[in-house]
Amino acid sequence: GLWLLSGFSAGFACIMWWLLGRPRSPIHELARALQAREFVPFLQPLVASDSEQLVGAEVLMRWQHPDAGLIRPDLFIPQAEASGLIVPMTDLIMTEVGEVLAARQACLPDGFHISFNISAAHCRDDRLLRECRAFLARFTPGKVVLVLELTERDLLVADPHTLSLFRQLDALGVQLAMDDFGTGHSSLVYLQQFHVDMLKIDKSFIGRIGTESLSEHIVDNVIDLGGRLGLALVAEGIETRSQADYLKGKVTYLQGYLFGRPVPVRQFCDERLTGNSV
Ligand code: C2E
Ligand code: CA
Ligand code: CA
Ligand code: CA
Repeated sequence: GLWLLSGFSAGFACIMWWLLGRPRSPIHELARALQAREFVPFLQPLVASDSEQLVGAEVLMRWQHPDAGLIRPDLFIPQAEASGLIVPMTDLIMTEVGEVLAARQACLPDGFHISFNISAAHCRDDRLLRECRAFLARFTPGKVVLVLELTERDLLVADPHTLSLFRQLDALGVQLAMDDFGTGHSSLVYLQQFHVDMLKIDKSFIGRIGTESLSEHIVDNVIDLGGRLGLALVAEGIETRSQADYLKGKVTYLQGYLFGRPVPVRQFCDERLTGNSV
């Protein structure tokens, strides 16, 4: 009976698939796309705030869908996190970025920051440590600084397992950035527990610089806090010269469309890295 029923439902699914011309669920579609390596890394430049020289890049995932074209991450990351597929998807783009950048490492300035966005679910997985080690092993020592960005809205639980993973990452020299800072509620204890190295001030505050004094107060307070804690600061979402000028001398790094939009990793290398070659 059970066999008949499952045979029936499998057959039904096949018919539905055939009728609709598409898989049954978003999870199937994500799994198919992972197999087909449709998740691709885009890189956005990170510049030093004083010189505006290129000092690194943030890796932002895109889905290159055969029919729908380029899909933005906020449309598929939540499903990928819920299904756990975010772990192999992140591994895929880390491998791709590692391969492409390592082949051009002669053109990279020393200590080039490469940051990846990491979901909290990934931080409970021991594969993360292996993946970071494998990424760093592609480069000569000191060539790159690997940064993991954790969003403040998706906070990690400070259990012994997670804390031990982060101690090991810290020992590897992997840096930790608190993303979207100001939108969540991480405490000072939290920043210390996880050895956070960097705060990324959320672009919603940056966008209101010059128009709204409350946002400026928030930005100034984060800058003050970061300075007291000895953390590096990144202001993200810089679109105008006046925003950049406001933040110059206050934060360490700037990121935003003013300095470059995210582009495919190979294009990034062609456009940004040739000038440094010797
Ligand atoms: P995020 O980590 O805060 O990334 C910054 C977002 O701001 C990116 O959107 C970037 O394209 C956009 N951005 C950069 N400069 C500017 C600017 O000057 N103005 C404006 N308006 N926007 C700017 P994107 O690429 O669509 O990514 C959205 C979010 O998706 C990311 O926000 C991150 O939370 C998530 N995400 C992206 N890639 C990954 C990934 O590989 N793994 C995980 N877990 N999440 C990812
Ligand atoms: Ca980020
Ligand atoms: Ca952010
Ligand atoms: Ca650290």
